[in-house]
Amino acid sequence: MSTLPETVARWDKFLAGIHERFGAVLSEAQTGCAQLLANNDYDTSAFGIAWSAMEARAKQLDSKLWNSWEDKVSPMFDALDLEAAVEDRERHKAETLSGRMEVELEQMRVRVFADAARAVWQRAVAQAPPQLSCSGCGAPMAAPQALSAVNLTCPHCSAVVTYEPGMRLRAIEHFCVHPLCEELSWQQWLAQHEAERALNDSRNETIGLLQAYEHAQVQYWRTYLTHRVQLLPARAADFDKDLRGRMAAWYDRVHHSAAWIKAGRPRTLA
Ligand SMILES: [Zn+2]
Repeated sequence: MSTLPETVARWDKFLAGIHERFGAVLSEAQTGCAQLLANNDYDTSAFGIAWSAMEARAKQLDSKLWNSWEDKVSPMFDALDLEAAVEDRERHKAETLSGRMEVELEQMRVRVFADAARAVWQRAVAQAPPQLSCSGCGAPMAAPQALSAVNLTCPHCSAVVTYEPGMRLRAIEHFCVHPLCEELSWQQWLAQHEAERALNDSRNETIGLLQAYEHAQVQYWRTYLTHRVQLLPARAADFDKDLRGRMAAWYDRVHHSAAWIKAGRPRTLA
């Protein structure tokens, strides 16, 4: 029969091994997805499926972690007949690693899709009509890196010229804009993820935790939509409507929370 230090050492080694394999799967996903995109001539239709397959492999390691805890490791600690605090402490190591892998997976997903968006966008810009000339004086103008129609003012005669990007560029708008905005809002995503975890880990749904999570989400979506407007200037007029839209599902969910009602449903967004 193993002693406690031996059992703990074996468990620590197992956790480190899981994390190492997880890192290997993520880096394989990064190179694999980029390679697939290049091989498919920057056609994005198979990209999401390829990522999902990689994501499933990464998530299997999390399942393996918890299965091992339940089937093997927890019974070993039980057999040692220890205080409950020891087993709680060892279980907490699994929870910490599991939470860390969840964030690392999300970070890699955002990076992989943002890298693909940049590659697809650069390719589409290269294929879009490179020449633009003023409809007033005929002077050549530089084509902007825009996904939707943009009005430009001619520096020579001040005529307003509409730049119309090619159909291909418009078609990839959805594929490119979302991941680039996600990447630019990563720090705010992390903050709202932490606030969500604090709320979920708490025994009581307090108004302080609810408001912290609400504010972090609003901050995330504000940042995301601000970057979106920079890429799609036509969305500027709908900024407030879009922000309320992103928060609508959460406000619906919190509407019947006792702590939220007791505080008078103090919504940041009207
Ligand atoms: Zn001109």
